[in-house]
Amino acid sequence: MAQETSREVGPVVLLGPPGAGKGTQAKRIMEHYEIPQVSTGDLLRENVARGTDLGLVAKAVMARGELVSDDLVCVMVRERLMQPDCHRGYVLDGFPRTAAQAGWLDALLDHELFDNSRPTRAWPIVIRLDVDYNQLLLRITGRRSCPTCGRIYNVHFQPPRADEICDEVHGTKLVTRNDDRLEVIQPRLTAYQEQTRPVADYYQRTGRLITVNGDLPMDDVTEQIYRILEDHHA
Ligand code: AMP
Repeated sequence: MAQETSREVGPVVLLGPPGAGKGTQAKRIMEHYEIPQVSTGDLLRENVARGTDLGLVAKAVMARGELVSDDLVCVMVRERLMQPDCHRGYVLDGFPRTAAQAGWLDALLDHELFDNSRPTRAWPIVIRLDVDYNQLLLRITGRRSCPTCGRIYNVHFQPPRADEICDEVHGTKLVTRNDDRLEVIQPRLTAYQEQTRPVADYYQRTGRLITVNGDLPMDDVTEQIYRILEDHHA
């Protein structure tokens, strides 16, 4: 059931390694609060699929499991956050992923997106999903998605009713993301350790990091996130 649609929500930042469940939880927040999910991974994949200049650069970087440069990603995010559907709030999934991106986002929220009609600046609510390493591997290797509706499955934990076929879009075969292949997983986890952990430190230092145990069942994680968002707005 969606929430009332007039009040502002977030912005919400979901942090966590690949496979932590950011995408799944972001989609739930999106539906519940009727705010858009802004996934930099999805935006980059769209650019790759459309063959844009950004997509051509990003494709090779993503295939190696490395991070696309801060400059390119920040321009893309800025453009997305300026869209009218982001006015009430949004949930960032996969951004910021470097300390530089986190600093850039704070500056953007402070200067450009600060709306004088708001009583306070909309600092992000930063939620990190912590997940055990072996769980992460199972989640990444088991992940499949529907190329048509985007629904995410996991062959180990949330399999579709018919083997490798989407429950929602009749007869559509699920796909594995190009960068969920075993040889790309390790570089992605290394990029997380080396480049994205400092983002959590950045928010921790400013007292804005909230950690949720991402090993809990998916519904319990969602419940905790909703509670955090409700407490924040109370
Ligand atoms: P994701 O779907 O969030 O796992 O992202 C897939 C890939 O897109 C990552 O492995 C990176 O190559 C790239 N990517 C996504 N978000 C960012 C970001 N904020 N900064 C740099 N690269 C990113």
